Amino acid sequence: MKERFAEIYPPKDILRKNDSEAFRILELEERRQREGIELIASENYVSPTVLEAMSTAFTNKYAEGVPGKRYYGGNQFIDEIEQLAIDRAKKLFGAEHINVQPHSGNPANMCVYFALLEPGDTVLGLSLDHGGHLSHGLPINFSGKWYKFIGYKTGKEDGFIDMNEVRKLARKTRPKMILAGFSAYSRNMDWKQFKEIADEVGAITMADIAHIAGLIAGKQIENPVPIFDVVTTTTHKTLRGPRGAIIMCKEKYAKSIDRAVFPGIQGGPHEHTIAAKAVAFKEASAEEFQSYTKKIIQNAQALAKALVERGFRIVSGDTDNHLMLVDLMPKNLTGNVAEKALEKAGIYVNKNLIPYDPQKPMVTSGIRLGTPAITTRGMNTSDMEQIANFIDRVLQNISDDAKIKEIAKDVKEFATSFPIFTWS
Ligand SMILES: *Cc1c(COP(=O)(O)O)cnc(C)c1O
Repeated sequence: MKERFAEIYPPKDILRKNDSEAFRILELEERRQREGIELIASENYVSPTVLEAMSTAFTNKYAEGVPGKRYYGGNQFIDEIEQLAIDRAKKLFGAEHINVQPHSGNPANMCVYFALLEPGDTVLGLSLDHGGHLSHGLPINFSGKWYKFIGYKTGKEDGFIDMNEVRKLARKTRPKMILAGFSAYSRNMDWKQFKEIADEVGAITMADIAHIAGLIAGKQIENPVPIFDVVTTTTHKTLRGPRGAIIMCKEKYAKSIDRAVFPGIQGGPHEHTIAAKAVAFKEASAEEFQSYTKKIIQNAQALAKALVERGFRIVSGDTDNHLMLVDLMPKNLTGNVAEKALEKAGIYVNKNLIPYDPQKPMVTSGIRLGTPAITTRGMNTSDMEQIANFIDRVLQNISDDAKIKEIAKDVKEFATSFPIFTWS
């Protein structure tokens, strides 16, 4: 299997020769990725093309400013590569304006709030314990410290966001901004209704599509970009690009957004990452990416079904996207214990609060599972039975280390029968 893996990740002869210590650790990480089953919903494997673009001379350049308006000389080709990323992303998402410089999702959201809000302004967003992200108002995050976040929730019975509650809250609190987006919600958001509610109370609309940007680019989920004022996304989750983010907005916000990114929040952009973003946008525009993202959702639905058949409860019953929350309360387990046991078997998941969770965030009653990475490896719906079986076996033998070691062997054999990356 090493050979198949090497096709994707070229040998690093220079690193091996000049820094054996760093090389040794890299080899171990590459092996971990090859031998395990990656179910963390926010992770993926990038293509060899994206990987190569990241490791280039573009990293050597300072390029404060935007294409055509820089503070340093020598930016002729940097302008070209950044403009290529902008043009491709504009076409991919149908955006009026794009800034491709945000270093990651959290700073991208910080730039938007910094551009469009004053400290203390009210923002309506999905509650963190119902699937919202920490940059949507966690009290110890900058967002929770500087702005007044009010959370809407998912219904206790069905697990869906209650749009009537969103409307009621909006009328009552008159927010400056309504934020639609999530890190742990398996259902589609009703972008048009969010927009209607925001218009009624005069709020700015912001969508954070960090998790589902790839599914939107692949035309599997409705695109909020034409509807919303501002849309942020990371580039490294379902979109399968380098670690980073972009901000898309209507033309009227373009200047404020660009000024917030630089010099407001960031300094010099990471142009090697921007080059890799450009490559990822090209890949996401290809027809094959639509079938890849379709398979991600099919796999998630097959995995949810296989888990339900084994007595697990999935929050809201099923999934419309790449992720699901598994409620472990019926199994008398907590998320942190399950995460650790699964890790011993080479299955990577994260503990996650479920709606109305009685446990603390470091314990939780649930785990979050996602299928972007395993779909990149070429796994399909028939493989989801096997994965559900592994999960079930580990959780049934949670305190039996010998059994878990046995399962780990099976997991390794299964995982290494797939390459790290397949072109779909
Ligand atoms: C992952 C995520 C982010 C943050 O991205 P980082 O790159 O980890 O900073 C922001 N918003 C949402 C909804 C996310 O899921």
